Amino acid sequence: MKVLKFGGTSVGSVENMCNVKNIINDGDKKIVVLSAMSGTTNKLVAISQDIKDVNLSEAENKISELQKVYFETIDQLLEDSDLNKSVREYVISIFEDLKACVSKVFSDALENQIVAQGELLSTYMFNSYLNQEGIHSALLPALDFMRIDGNKEPNIDYIKNNIKTVLKENESANIYITQGFICLDANDEVSNLQRGGSDYTATIIGAAIIAEEVQIWTDIDGMHNNDPRYVENTNPISNLSFDEAAELAYFGAKILHPQTVTPVRADNIPVRLKNTMDPIAHGTLISSKTSEGGIKAIAAKDGITAIKIKSARMLQAHGFLKKVFEIFETYETSIDMITTSEVAVSLTIDDDRNLDKILNELEKFALIEVDERQSIVCLVGHSVVNHQDTFKLFQILQDVKIRMISYGGSKNNISLLIDTDDKINTLQKLNDYLFELVTL
Ligand code: ADP
Ligand code: ASP
Ligand code: MG
Repeated sequence: MKVLKFGGTSVGSVENMCNVKNIINDGDKKIVVLSAMSGTTNKLVAISQDIKDVNLSEAENKISELQKVYFETIDQLLEDSDLNKSVREYVISIFEDLKACVSKVFSDALENQIVAQGELLSTYMFNSYLNQEGIHSALLPALDFMRIDGNKEPNIDYIKNNIKTVLKENESANIYITQGFICLDANDEVSNLQRGGSDYTATIIGAAIIAEEVQIWTDIDGMHNNDPRYVENTNPISNLSFDEAAELAYFGAKILHPQTVTPVRADNIPVRLKNTMDPIAHGTLISSKTSEGGIKAIAAKDGITAIKIKSARMLQAHGFLKKVFEIFETYETSIDMITTSEVAVSLTIDDDRNLDKILNELEKFALIEVDERQSIVCLVGHSVVNHQDTFKLFQILQDVKIRMISYGGSKNNISLLIDTDDKINTLQKLNDYLFELVTL
């Protein structure tokens, strides 16, 4: 069985929902994972921020605006008056719950409850639409089987057992619809897989049922060789290895949640990226196959903080790095890039929630410099470190201030740390000289 995930834009309008219906209605049994309609999760995040800021009338306004969008969508999507009425009742009940949240005291649990509503709405509406169109589908509540453990990792054994049960209970259905993004946590509270998490839901399910293939359907024809939001003349890449895709997703290619590839690579389950608006386009196939060819793609990750930790006696003082790493471990902050010299170590983090505490600890034995608003530019390709293009990099980027470079950590990745203000210029230059065959 295949698992197909459709993102926010794919379910963001009646026209696109119709495209999704045509794509999935090919007679094969499948699991379909849906995101919230585009814009909804952002709105729900903003509503919970208003509640946190005790901006309660603003929260209520946003809830009313969002409810209107759903009523309009239902009226366009569901002509059948009984179905229209029952979906309307469901939507009203969700929005009544949201309105009730406004008078509650803010907590992370409340925020998780609020942001979960988007996927509940889109799947309920879409499943009813399929029923109207005579398609035999069943709605499988993700909260019946999707769960993370105390380390926020998917609880694979639980997921495997529970998904098996729900599939069995709905054996006669041809298409299973479920929510992306949402899950239960180790305490049975509603939680989620972080922003963009529906991709991750799809590959977790793919691994749990040992799917034939996982397909991620979105609004673009696959993984491009550079970020199309900032760079002109990017092109889709037809094949990527699991390693290459994992690096690109982790280092900022927004088309994939950072963890998308993790669940499926061990079982060699291919992941295909496809365009809902242009289903004939090849897209990108992510598999264990590797191909030579130098730098294949570039991604950038913003919101990076660089920390330089300087000790007069670093090399002599053995145990220095251990001490440094232990501090980051204590504050559950992972390190992305690291470089060392005789007197200093520079490293980067993307989660600065505990930055002050980390700096306090480091300052007890070292001199510290911090640079915020940094970006990691990541260049990916099979054996990229050995390719001739790689040696042109410094020439191409001679007018960009490179703060750190990571080369050789993996054969498939070279990372550069730059100021975020230089990001677009850097990405465009790399694109022009590496992919557009402009000569230096
Ligand atoms: P969905 O809502 O379907 O999950 P996303 O917005 O999360 O879609 O991801 C698709 C978007 O990712 C594209 O519209 C594109 O703007 C952006 N994107 C960023 N980097 C890349 C890349 N390297 N290749 C393709 N798309 C990218
Ligand atoms: N709806 C969630 C988000 O916007 C999950 C997803 O779309 O993948 O982040
Ligand atoms: Mg996404």
